[in-house]
Amino acid sequence: MAFLIDCPNCGGRNPYEFNFGGECKRAPDQGADMKAWCDYLFFHENMPEFQDEWWYHTMGCGDWIKIRRNIATHEIKLIED
Ligand SMILES: [Zn+2]
Repeated sequence: MAFLIDCPNCGGRNPYEFNFGGECKRAPDQGADMKAWCDYLFFHENMPEFQDEWWYHTMGCGDWIKIRRNIATHEIKLIED
């Protein structure tokens, strides 16, 4: 894995310092049926393009960061909220 994740607190770091937290996507509304929750939890778009993801800097600052990563090339953009 030859890419760096640019943590806003620690700078560019090896992705092995992080835990992948999954895709950023909107949770179903309260009261949604079981299928909606199963789709949310277990099915992912996983398209060969940019997707927004959560990463936890386990061996660094301990913050969650949101990045936009091209899952085919690993090009990364930090998402400013
Ligand atoms: Zn950090």
